[in-house]
Amino acid sequence: TPVPDYLADLLRNCKAAHGGELADYIPELASADPTKLAVALTTLDGVIYSAGDDEHEFSIQSISKAFTYAYVIEELGLQRVMRKVGVEPSGEAFNEISLDKTDEQQIKPKNPMINSGAITVHSLIPKAEKSCRAETVRLFFSKLAGRELAFDQEIFHSEKETAFRNLSIGYSLRNFNILESDPVEIVESYVKQCAINVTVKDLVNMMSVLVNDGILPRTGERILSHKTVRQVLTVMTTCGMYNAAGDWLANVGIPAKSGVSGGIIGVLPGQVGLAVFSPKLDRYGNSVRGIDIMQQMSRDMGLHLLEGV
Ligand code: GLU
Repeated sequence: TPVPDYLADLLRNCKAAHGGELADYIPELASADPTKLAVALTTLDGVIYSAGDDEHEFSIQSISKAFTYAYVIEELGLQRVMRKVGVEPSGEAFNEISLDKTDEQQIKPKNPMINSGAITVHSLIPKAEKSCRAETVRLFFSKLAGRELAFDQEIFHSEKETAFRNLSIGYSLRNFNILESDPVEIVESYVKQCAINVTVKDLVNMMSVLVNDGILPRTGERILSHKTVRQVLTVMTTCGMYNAAGDWLANVGIPAKSGVSGGIIGVLPGQVGLAVFSPKLDRYGNSVRGIDIMQQMSRDMGLHLLEGV
């Protein structure tokens, strides 16, 4: 079957996947349309296929963490980033006020995919004189996506007004000097990073740089080094799917990242990048239909990393 027909079939078949709830801890997310469903795929050379509500925009949320991590490693070098944020799976909820205290000299968030790590990573973005760090992120994501992305102001304000938990993470990070400036400013800017609107097509365009070992296929430009890509894909593999990372690795078997608005991305380096969107989440915070579709694609295309080894 041609790819577009295959993708359309996938969506038709997964309509049966029921259950899950809309995220409600960001008030505005609870008003998402639960029927929206979309899938997109990029090949190694950046050819994009998509189906369903592929023009529907949603806030990127935690999927942003992977790309901001890449940006910061590229800007500062891996060593400096590693001094601030580790790479160990945490086994705790993503918004846990959690720090790795094994080394008393170097207390730090366990990994960049949980909020404490992602807020720290955000703080490492070199601050431009006249704009917030979120603006730097928006420009970087836009470059990868190949079009100008925008902030969802409703989502941003809705989350900012209720960001007590992330603020307490911010203060705790500031207390240990992991954040080196005003935690409120950093957390607000991090929340804004999460509120960048994307479609599944934007996501696969952004991922094409990860599929293609750091080179953006659309322009041929090298954006990330091989080492950065390997690091990002590593933490996506171990920490990308909240506390369902083990299940995901067993059943789907590719580096991935999901977000509370209902998106999931998955990458098989050198082969394909996949993105799905459907807002209802399981108890781990992963899109129910999204997982269903990803499992199916992994089976159909034999994507599991350890397949055929
Ligand atoms: N903006 C959300 C937060 O920081 C993102 C959470 C997520 O997608 O997991 O709490």
